[in-house]
Amino acid sequence: MWGGIEAGGTKFVCAVAGEDGQILERTQFYTEAPLPTLAKAIDFFSEFEGELEGIGIASFGPVDLEGGRITSTPKPGWRDFAIAETVQEKLGVKVAFDTDVNAAALAEWKWGAARGLHTILYLTIGTGIGGGAIAGGRLIHGLHHPEMGHIRVPHDGSFAGVCPYHGDCLEGLACGKAMEERCGERAEEIPSDHPIWQEETRLLAHGLVNWICTLSPQLIIMGGGVMKQQMLFPALRTRVSALLNGYVPIPDIVPPALGDDAGVLGAVALCL
Ligand code: ZN
Repeated sequence: MWGGIEAGGTKFVCAVAGEDGQILERTQFYTEAPLPTLAKAIDFFSEFEGELEGIGIASFGPVDLEGGRITSTPKPGWRDFAIAETVQEKLGVKVAFDTDVNAAALAEWKWGAARGLHTILYLTIGTGIGGGAIAGGRLIHGLHHPEMGHIRVPHDGSFAGVCPYHGDCLEGLACGKAMEERCGERAEEIPSDHPIWQEETRLLAHGLVNWICTLSPQLIIMGGGVMKQQMLFPALRTRVSALLNGYVPIPDIVPPALGDDAGVLGAVALCL
């Protein structure tokens, strides 16, 4: 059996799964300060002591991949927190570590919508915006790791954006937090005929065009709370097609086949 921790900025999901990606046990709780949050995760995995081959951690970022730590997050208490080391010390098993979106890309590639493909993009549009990618059958890591949500897209300047680092990067303009600030209610609860969705579609479509032109993915998978608004999928396909204007083929844009378990199964997949 293998363990997975999806360490999200809002909630933690922990699961134990077999090599086939079937979840045997699962739990979730809100993300509080690092130590009390990790204590709950360790409690959960303690029940499987001696049975776990390893634990994968799919973490919100930015992260230091080699050091297994979360780095420049604005989230109180989490900056420079050595999450991988803490889990390894408490549970004494091998720990694998990557970003939450890279992990979700891996899970969708191994068990979900992207099986059999070699170059794919997984995006989450939620509290923040992030992207993980597999190119030529390998997860993309680099000097650091991709931070796809922080690209720039054209806009009229009427909204300053909410990114604490850049203001009006794509995440700052189009993440769930930005929508909440613009409309006064959570993105999941904004009616689907609200005019804000046209602007959201426009912003995300510009992001998609940039990622399609740089990565040439065979498939784009879009998850996260904002993407629960199903009408975004056809709207984005139409808008991306108009922006690219027949220049290159457009990959299909789909929700995660693993649904809300893509992240935690990605953590398991990191171990495997
Ligand atoms: Zn930013």
